Amino acid sequence: MKRHSIWLKILRYLWVAPISLGCTPLAALAWATGGHFALHSGVLEIWGGYIGKRLQQGLPMFGRVNAFTLGHVVIGMSPAHLAASRVHERVHVAQFERWGVLFPLVYVIAGWRAQRRGGHAYWDNPYEIAARQAAAQVQQIDLYSLQCDGETKE
Ligand SMILES: [Zn+2]
Repeated sequence: MKRHSIWLKILRYLWVAPISLGCTPLAALAWATGGHFALHSGVLEIWGGYIGKRLQQGLPMFGRVNAFTLGHVVIGMSPAHLAASRVHERVHVAQFERWGVLFPLVYVIAGWRAQRRGGHAYWDNPYEIAARQAAAQVQQIDLYSLQCDGETKE
């Protein structure tokens, strides 16, 4: 890794740090209530316990969610839910890295603009569309790989 890219990566973490660090106590909350946490590809993933139950019950404005990104912290119902939504949530991590602490505001404004156009604040939010498209592309690649593997084995 080149020296300037290391500094760029550090700056991306610092730019989002107020949100990421503010959410790290969620790891203790999850752990104290039967959940767990781990670092995965530079992101703190937290699941289960009170966090998992709360996500299952639903968040205001979002309803029931499998996983939710807060800077370099991703909370999820379970490890399976985190794994299934990892590509989608990593797009949100990249969006946080781009916009920093402003991203929650930018996200809400984008949802509001989508609603003003007659769409849905979540489903028609361009940041959600980008995350869904990235996840769909990976699924297509996975399906293609399975097909190729099948041809090889036959
Ligand atoms: Zn999303």
